[in-house]
Amino acid sequence: MSISHPTACILCPQNCGIQIQVGDSGQFEKIVGDDAHPISEGYLCQKAARLNYYQDQARLTAPLRKKADGTFEEVSWEIAIQEIADKLVSIRDTHGGETIAYAGGGGQGNHLGGIYATALRAACESPYFYSALAQEKTGNFWVNGKLFGRQNTNYSEAVAEAEYVFIIGTNPLQSHGIPRARKVMRELARDPERTLVVVDPRRTETAKLADVFMQVKLGKDAFLLAALLAVIMQEGLEDESFLAEKTVGFEEVKGHFMDISVEDYADICGINADMIREVARGMAHAKTMAIRSDLGIEQSQNSTLNAYLVRLLFLVTGNFGKEGTNCLHTAFLPLIGHSKAPEEGGITTQVTGMQAIAKLFPPNILPLEIDSDHPKRTRGLIVESANPLSSYADVQAQLKAYAKLDLMVVIDVAMTETAQAAHYILPASTQFEKTEATFFNLEFPKNFFHLRKPILPPLENTLPEPEMHHRLLTAMGELPSSFPVLAGLAKLDRLAPMLRIFPLALAATFALRPKWKKYAVIVMKETLGRALPKGTQAAAVLWVAAHRYAKKYPAEVRRTGLAGKGYALGEALFKKVLTSRSGTLISIHQFEDHWNLIRHKDRKVHLSIPLLLDWLDELPGQVAEEAQQKKEYPFYLIAGERRSYNANTILRNPEWRKTDKEGALKIHPEDAAKLQIATGDLVTCTSEVGSIQITAKVTDELPVGILSMPNGYGLSYPGEKSPQRLGALTNWLTSTGNCDPLAKTPFHKQVAVKLEK
Ligand code: SF4
Repeated sequence: MSISHPTACILCPQNCGIQIQVGDSGQFEKIVGDDAHPISEGYLCQKAARLNYYQDQARLTAPLRKKADGTFEEVSWEIAIQEIADKLVSIRDTHGGETIAYAGGGGQGNHLGGIYATALRAACESPYFYSALAQEKTGNFWVNGKLFGRQNTNYSEAVAEAEYVFIIGTNPLQSHGIPRARKVMRELARDPERTLVVVDPRRTETAKLADVFMQVKLGKDAFLLAALLAVIMQEGLEDESFLAEKTVGFEEVKGHFMDISVEDYADICGINADMIREVARGMAHAKTMAIRSDLGIEQSQNSTLNAYLVRLLFLVTGNFGKEGTNCLHTAFLPLIGHSKAPEEGGITTQVTGMQAIAKLFPPNILPLEIDSDHPKRTRGLIVESANPLSSYADVQAQLKAYAKLDLMVVIDVAMTETAQAAHYILPASTQFEKTEATFFNLEFPKNFFHLRKPILPPLENTLPEPEMHHRLLTAMGELPSSFPVLAGLAKLDRLAPMLRIFPLALAATFALRPKWKKYAVIVMKETLGRALPKGTQAAAVLWVAAHRYAKKYPAEVRRTGLAGKGYALGEALFKKVLTSRSGTLISIHQFEDHWNLIRHKDRKVHLSIPLLLDWLDELPGQVAEEAQQKKEYPFYLIAGERRSYNANTILRNPEWRKTDKEGALKIHPEDAAKLQIATGDLVTCTSEVGSIQITAKVTDELPVGILSMPNGYGLSYPGEKSPQRLGALTNWLTSTGNCDPLAKTPFHKQVAVKLEK
């Protein structure tokens, strides 16, 4: 008899609540939206319906060790764990923990394992955490740090409520990025009282819904954003009372916009100056405005400056911290932290001297940190739940670098491109076979958390990541394999939590064994975790999160219907999270409390960022530089368009796609005619670092000179006789050097290429 289980889609950061009907033999029979999910409310897109291609994929079924001839052999868990542990200890003790790095640790909706990896990093004494977030969002985080006081302040966008909505560098109809995206966007487009402005070089599905479509020239978003701000300031349309009450530094900022020629900038970005004026006035006069931006401006020219200009637009018009605008939000379990600048003692990498932003390092510099003669070059690399050879820039540079590692370990469910480069591969249970959670809980005024229970038993001989980390720590001699006394006390504690037996025993344990404190997550999993309901052991860390959150936001937590104060409220929140099968609200905020989320002591937004204002002043110089560049690569490629059947790279079997099976390269009819290319032709696309072959599709949705291809294609998957690979991998074309000067985020959306039939 089949049973329906609540869980979540794991294909994009929305992590919509879904119900999966599982048959007797574990097959996914039907997938529908979960009406009980507090944010997605039953919404889902077509991708979730084919999650069976994730669960039923060709799996890793044993730990693998690379042989001298480059092939792999199966080894027992005991051997794999002990050999990896010995090698990590050897690298750490011989060369220092700073020569070990960790990459990944999550993927969409798969964040719980990453928390337990913090213990492994502590045991390795490794300060270096490379994350996919640092190839997209660290420019944003850096700007947030300056404006709002900490790099881990982040905002959400009230696209569903705002009167005026400005969408730039994203296509919510395909990439989502906001709750219930298609429904929300279509309702917005239908409402005559509201305005939708879309900025994109490509006429996207969302652009087709827009009241105003600004078809900006690729990479020229900063000119458009600066021109919009210039109109607002030159016409005196800024929200003076908001700026006076809630911000500091406006006059300094304004000085940099008063001399901008809107006409000149309009010419450069390819948008009519009258249209820019109309939109700027619309933004300033709207009762409420929300701005949603994403990878299109984060992974192209001026990305950190773009982040600043977007924020200035909603700040100078007073659209911040109010209903229907952009608002900061809280975090139940934080994805990121705050890093000091190098001059304040913040850590930097050994070879390139790159600073951490939000406690993350950009994958873009990883090949340089490994492929070097520096005595402190990276020698050991642990990759968990990530596939850098698909998703990080420059496959060639990565392959060359990984070949120089003393140790490379990959933890994954399938034989990925990156796993093939590793010395050891550890097979993980899938996201439906273990307790998991997304930390993408980025909502305001209502925030939520969804703890997902396993809906299937783990495949034999696979392990959840937290268990792997514990075994590695034990094999490294850092922790025992069990904690019987503390585990027994944790069981008693669950019978009467208000006696606080467990926290007292935990504190006493750490007083006796101070070294264990840095491995607290593992100690908790092995003690409190064992006292939790079956299958939820890894939820132990949520006990700390619940108590911290309830202490910080007691009134907001109580508004969700929970009663109690102090410790009792924390326990009530923990119980709520643990027992809610479809996710639950964890806080309901009031708009007047929003300003407490600003981390500057004066609770004001600090508008002036001199480094970025200088960058703004230098923008016109970019145009002159580009004019001089040799046109060896006459096209710009948007490498990573989001389409109907691409997502993250956890769906490897190409059969999951109903349409666009090969991920065609889009090209404008004029360009196609010049090169005598027709839809369906095989073309060769070449950048300064690599070359791919790809099928062409002629379409006028792109401007002349711009090409576009999707991400997530070209992954190898076992075929009947040999591995098959359908479509092309974008990162054969991207280079690590083509990136933002400050955050090092790669310009995936702006890759110079040439094309041949
Ligand atoms: S792909 Fe994203 S929007 Fe679609 S169902 Fe999954 S989580 Fe929701």
